[in-house]
This record gives sequence, structure tokens and C-alpha cells, in this order.
Amino acid sequence: MNGEFSTLLADIKEQILYLQELGAESFNVELSEFDASKFGTQNAAIKNHNKQSAISQEKLERFVPTDFELPKIETAKPKISGSEGISSRRSLLESTKLSRLPSLPKRNSFAAKITDEPASESKMPKTIVTEETPGLFGDVKPTLPEAGETIEDIRLDIGNCTRCPLHEGRTKIVHSTGNLRADLMFVGEAPGADEDAQGVPFVGRSGQLLNKIIESIGLKREDVFVGNINRCRPPGNRAPTLPEAKTCKPFLLREIAVVRPKVIVVLGNTACQNLLETKVGISKLRGEFQDYFGVKVMPTFHPAYLLRDPSKKREVWEDMKKVRDELNKLQG
Ligand code: SF4
Repeated sequence: MNGEFSTLLADIKEQILYLQELGAESFNVELSEFDASKFGTQNAAIKNHNKQSAISQEKLERFVPTDFELPKIETAKPKISGSEGISSRRSLLESTKLSRLPSLPKRNSFAAKITDEPASESKMPKTIVTEETPGLFGDVKPTLPEAGETIEDIRLDIGNCTRCPLHEGRTKIVHSTGNLRADLMFVGEAPGADEDAQGVPFVGRSGQLLNKIIESIGLKREDVFVGNINRCRPPGNRAPTLPEAKTCKPFLLREIAVVRPKVIVVLGNTACQNLLETKVGISKLRGEFQDYFGVKVMPTFHPAYLLRDPSKKREVWEDMKKVRDELNKLQG
């Protein structure tokens, strides 16, 4: 008889779960209406038992209370706006069977474009603008916008730039240089004295060390693309201010959209925080790939810092091994 009761209770449990799925929060059962014959032939044993000893209402109520409050179920409610909403929708989606279906079509949910500034603001650099248009299931993944211009176009636009105060102390504007089809790009902070004199990034002692870092993973300087957040030397080699960095950075972002590297190594705290728009320090971020519009970004220490503290070279070497492995994987 215990087995029959177990079967009956399992059936009831299943019905309760079904009602919960339908949104029922409570229900009321009149046990006087209970008729074992409705449970079908497989429950004939129960009917027989009822004939013999009858399931008393009191006994049954011990198992199935007549005024039954269904337990509350916590359900995740998707938020519908903002980045928090996107991640909520994503986590909700990931928890459903729908997310396990093979290949819903990938949607590029960020429409990006390069804006032409109005004539009255023609001294401001063009900026890359992204518009968030979340997909049906919130599967947003920003990717690099199409450039629609060349490096020469960007140089022409920069011209004899006076958009930020750093132009006052410069000797030469230091543009990015290297392989325009590079898979690997390096981004530093701003030119130093040697770079300012020659108009080429990373040519001083830091540049020589950077060359060794590049060679350590089997590449040459001419294989990669190298640039800085700011193109003019800050006085006294200070770090660029936030407004200075914000003014110059769009040129670099446009170059990234042209070159489309697979991996970017960002060198030092200032470059890292400006490129990734984060306040987290380089010591915490280094060694782990970050994302920049679908491009893998490896933050690591600046060569100038390694010249001051050579003990940090080991960490840079560890970071570069990850870069090498990632490039091999992406090219593979
Ligand atoms: S640092 Fe950049 S924005 Fe500032 S003057 Fe030089 S090129 Fe122009």
C-alpha cells in the first residue's frame, strides 16, 4: 500500500508543479469529491483498498491539505534597459533551454559609425560612436566598426594639430607606425624626448626594450603596429591629463579600426586606463586578456617601467607568452 500511496503522491506532486508553471499560487480541494475511480485502472489497487478499509479524509489530509498554499518560487525577472539589463537578460537566456539550441544566428547588435563632425567643430577629431541596439535575446557583442577611411585620411585630418595643449611643447607629432596589416599592435602612453625629436614612437631606450619584447615572441618590429594614446610629448615626461588623452585618443581608435589587429598589447597604466576606459590599475589587469570591440587586449608593464625595475620583466614575459599563444590560436 505504501507503494500505491507513493505513486498517488508523485502524481499529485507533478500536478502541483504543473499548476505552478501555469502561475497558480493556491488552490482548494474538496476531498468529498475525491473519487479513486478517476485515477484509472492502474490505481485499481487503491479502489480495492478503499472498498476494504476506505482512505479516511483525515488520513489523506495529512498528505494533501485541502487548503494548500503553494510555495513561492523565486523567478529571475529580466531588466529591459542599460548594461545591467543586458547582462540580466544574458544570464536569464543562458539559464534556459533556448540558449542550448544550436546556433541562433549571430547578430551584430552594435551599429557603429564614424561621425563627421560639424564644420564649426572641425578642429575636433572624428570620433568612433557606437549605438547600442540590443538583439532579441540581448546577445550583444560589440565589434570594431568598419573604418571607411585610410591611415592617410587620418593623418590628413590630424594635420598640424593644436586640439590640445600638448601641441605647445612638441617638436614633432609622433604618429603610429608599422605594418598596416599587423595582427599585433602595441599602444603606449605618449612620446618621450627621443620620439619627440625623431617623430617616431618607441625609438629611445624604451623602444629598444620594446623591440626585444617583440622579438621574444618570434616577431620583428616591422611585423607589428605601434602607437600612443597621445601624439605630442607632455612637458617633463608627465602623464597626459585625462582631457588631453580624450582629445587625442580618437585618432588611435580610428587607426585600430583601419589596421584591425587581432591582439593589442597595452603598455603601462595610463595607456591601459585610457584605452579600456577603466580606473583599475595595471598591476591588477596585467596578465589577463581584456576586450576592446572584440579585439583581445593584453595589459602589461611599460618598457620604461621595466628599465626602472628589471625584476618586472618576468611578468611581462609571462604576458607575452599568452599573447604569442593567442596569436597562434587565432591564426591557426
Ligand atoms: S596630443 Fe594629439 S590632440 Fe593633442 S595636439 Fe598632439 S596630436 Fe593634437
